[in-house]
Amino acid sequence: MSYAERIRVRGIVQGVGFRPTVWRLANELGLKGTVLNDGSGVLIELQGDQILIEQFIDSLNQQLPPLARIDGVEREVLESFAPVNTFTIAKSTLNTIHTHISPDAATCSQCLAEVLDPNNHRYQYPFTNCTHCGPRLSIVTGIPYDRVHTTMTDFVMCVECQAEYENPRDKRFHAQPNACPICGPYVWLEAQGQILYSHHEAIEQCAAYLKQGKIIAIKGIGGIHLACDATNDEAVQTLRVRKCRPYKPLALMAKNIEQISEYCHINEVERLALNSSAAPIVLLDIANLGNLSSALAPNQNQLGFMLPYSPLHTLLMQYLTFPIVLTSGNRSGEPQCISNEQSRIQLADIADAQLLHNRTIASRLDDSVMRFMAGKMRVLRRARGFAPAPIQLPHGFESVPTVLALGGELKSTACLVQDGQAVLTQHLGDLDNYATLQEFERQVGLYQALYQHQPQVLALDKHPNYHSTQWGLQLAQVQQIPAIQVQHHHAHLASCLADNGYPLNSNKVLGIILDGTGLGDDGTLWGGEILLGDYQGFERLAWLKPVPLLGGTQAILQPWRLAYAYLKYTGVWDQVVQDFAELPIIQYLQAKPLKTLDQMAAKGINSPSTSSCGRLFDAVAALLGICSEQITYEGQAAIELEALVKKPHPVPPLIKGGREESIIVVSDLSYSSLDKGRLGGVFSYFPPLSGEGQGMGGYALSWQNNQLSTTQLWLQMLTDIANQVDYSTIAYKFHSGLAQALIAKATILAHEHAVSIIALSGGVMQNRFMLETLTSALETNFTVFNQCQVPANDGGLALGQAAIAAALTLRR
Ligand SMILES: [Zn+2]
Ligand SMILES: [Zn+2]
Repeated sequence: MSYAERIRVRGIVQGVGFRPTVWRLANELGLKGTVLNDGSGVLIELQGDQILIEQFIDSLNQQLPPLARIDGVEREVLESFAPVNTFTIAKSTLNTIHTHISPDAATCSQCLAEVLDPNNHRYQYPFTNCTHCGPRLSIVTGIPYDRVHTTMTDFVMCVECQAEYENPRDKRFHAQPNACPICGPYVWLEAQGQILYSHHEAIEQCAAYLKQGKIIAIKGIGGIHLACDATNDEAVQTLRVRKCRPYKPLALMAKNIEQISEYCHINEVERLALNSSAAPIVLLDIANLGNLSSALAPNQNQLGFMLPYSPLHTLLMQYLTFPIVLTSGNRSGEPQCISNEQSRIQLADIADAQLLHNRTIASRLDDSVMRFMAGKMRVLRRARGFAPAPIQLPHGFESVPTVLALGGELKSTACLVQDGQAVLTQHLGDLDNYATLQEFERQVGLYQALYQHQPQVLALDKHPNYHSTQWGLQLAQVQQIPAIQVQHHHAHLASCLADNGYPLNSNKVLGIILDGTGLGDDGTLWGGEILLGDYQGFERLAWLKPVPLLGGTQAILQPWRLAYAYLKYTGVWDQVVQDFAELPIIQYLQAKPLKTLDQMAAKGINSPSTSSCGRLFDAVAALLGICSEQITYEGQAAIELEALVKKPHPVPPLIKGGREESIIVVSDLSYSSLDKGRLGGVFSYFPPLSGEGQGMGGYALSWQNNQLSTTQLWLQMLTDIANQVDYSTIAYKFHSGLAQALIAKATILAHEHAVSIIALSGGVMQNRFMLETLTSALETNFTVFNQCQVPANDGGLALGQAAIAAALTLRR
């Protein structure tokens, strides 16, 4: 034997059964040597026939353990080596960590079979898992990823478990959360501080309580949920009242796919997502509400379903014939509880009983949320099952500095860039809550410890009042490192580019960024922009014509303020009062303290100018009486407005063929005559819509130079309201008109700037109609980027900030 290689494997290769796979393959092929974990991943030394080593590499790629992911393999032929006679798993050498922790994973089929097998040692044991499944990030407290650095350190393995743990042939070899009924954690059911039942009886009794209509707190993998019978209207209403959550849709758990399909349409991609190891909540079109409570998702046409992702949930669902509500266990405004103590205090008067256990949750992991739009699954909330799997940054970012990006204010996440990869934290929530802010700071600290991450540069939002910005500026001062403040919508654009693997030094793209609000470079609040840019910079080419945000933050909570602001400041108010005096919505607006608002606006007090697209949706919703007075959860007005549009009606392709041609078809004018002064009419050159949308071309939104005017929209819309046109049609005409105006302008701008790629991002891109309509129309002429891996809303912001800060630092 005179040939040997050293093979370095990088990626998600630790704590996922990678070394046993290597060990098994090497032994099967008769190769000698060692495998070990170190700070950079896995290091393999192989001695034997060169052809067999090639075979080994092939087999390794084909037989990768389910949770493993290889990001890179480097091979080196060894000139000299000491021959050995066996293949062994050597002791880990961990110096600096540049490897990755895998996300928490739903129970694998083998473990499930064990839990359901009366002859198995783990029969009905709710904490069964192996190297291919179970908790990871939710139990990690430090590095290296060994049992002592997880919350499983509280449990000493019994002889049998220890034997499995040490046997490379066993699927529990080095499975850190390995446990069994003898030595592992257990569950109990308690109420008013008294333990009522424990172990399997607790689960059985929990099911009985749910059948009786009770509300139960259930401690799961990454947090504590509140559960009740989803078919029991009284239970659902009671839960809403106790939780002070009147309208926000509640997530559901069903026993299996068959049960979900009694209520919702499920396509193949959605089915795969539901069954994936991430086991997210998937938003599905309602087919038939059947016996489900109508209070689950008021004014919605989708329901969020997930499948059991831990043995505890599987065992519970075995006893139930109906789906259950499974919503985060927290008091209104507070983060989800993760400890028994918090749960006992916070949920005492919400839950009738609590199913708790004695394994500590180290990090809160909300359920991830996905939605199928424009032909793909999109992550709307990225948490359990996804974080902290790294996102490979595109070509050009290989040698970037280490960056820490702290995201925005709402739906916050942080992002660590290291070795050309981006690690995005799980969704951590809204930083205007003090407990969430503390948790945010703690999680960033934990991630930095896990990845031994020392930032060379910080990336922050431009907004000086965001808690993440303020904390970041302090960090920058203390650590003496530069902080780059990134414009909010530029970060959205970069997030979309990075999500699509767009290389660093590539041509500029056009970005249609439709969002809530972000501080713009001119000091006003932006949110409906067409940008031209790349990772390094951007130019704002077009935007929604701004209106004053009357009352600042108040206006975001009270959509009627937006309705008035739009009618008043697009110059139609006087006409509206005259022509539509009979309309209840106008009388309602007239009863508001409008004079005070006008004075505020005139003096520029608490009424910043905004071009936000989200706020335009609020205004339209308010005129239809949707949440006019007050919203009860973020984005409610826009979400309910979208749900009114019964079906997505993609705008028919404008053109076949080249871009030049398309412009000519869009209008009957030649391209050169489409000068800036005449763009106002472009929307009306769209062909009429076919099918259900026939004759509903959409309301008129016209471009005046680079500003999108809504003046005509309001008069047309109020005329429809006065003519008692149904609200579904009105919602459709608004969506359609807005989409058409954006498509027309983007087409022209892309042509002017010789751009072939259009990126779509911002919170409004989680609106299915907008995403699908813009994508299908623009795809006929351009490459369209939209987001999959990270949310298009502020949950993906940190990735964009990190990419921008990295790019700017490289350029310096
Ligand atoms: Zn398993
Ligand atoms: Zn055991």
